Amino acid sequence: MQNLLEDLKDTEVFKELGAISVFYENVDKELSTFPNRFGVFCKKGCGECCAHFIPDLTYLESLFIAYHVLTSEKREMLVSRLEERKGSTTAPCPFYDVNSELHCMIYPARGLVCRLFNSSFFLDKYRKPVFKACRFGGDDKDINLEFAHPDVPLMSKYGEELEGLYGNTTGTKLLTFSVLSEIDKILMLASFGKGA
Ligand code: SF4
Ligand code: SF4
Repeated sequence: MQNLLEDLKDTEVFKELGAISVFYENVDKELSTFPNRFGVFCKKGCGECCAHFIPDLTYLESLFIAYHVLTSEKREMLVSRLEERKGSTTAPCPFYDVNSELHCMIYPARGLVCRLFNSSFFLDKYRKPVFKACRFGGDDKDINLEFAHPDVPLMSKYGEELEGLYGNTTGTKLLTFSVLSEIDKILMLASFGKGA
């Protein structure tokens, strides 16, 4: 799988992977200051969100996870996790690993909601940014901004940017329904690339 990207280079998928990769780099950069800026930290060793949740993903998020799985040293194990949980709607997330530090087997490729959870604001009915702390294991702290902070990280802003990325769709599917299909698609496209 070392040359997978090379095999995909003349495809739309190559451009789509590039678009979501740059987007995630920006999201991670912008959210990196959130804990210290707002004094919100996840409890050390906690992974309760992943134990109680399966993320809904747009097309590009699923594609990015599929590519990550195919290029991972743990590919066989990750694919078998997906196959075992194919079509499941019940938690935990197939990639939840109770024994690892970050509790996510695909951490660099995790979806947007996994990046934003406990690290971003939503807009209330008055379009005021509101932060509700995660109730599973984080600091039990809500942040109410008394005045507008135009630069606070907003879920809605990131969601709109994600939907507008090159090749993305507006609908979502549960990870357990979407990622295996994208794996199949990437493998098929890569096999054409090899033959070109
Ligand atoms: S993808 Fe990773 S971070 Fe997201 S719910 Fe699953 S295990 Fe947790
Ligand atoms: S504190 Fe909340 S958001 Fe952080 S890892 Fe635990 S359950 Fe997830």
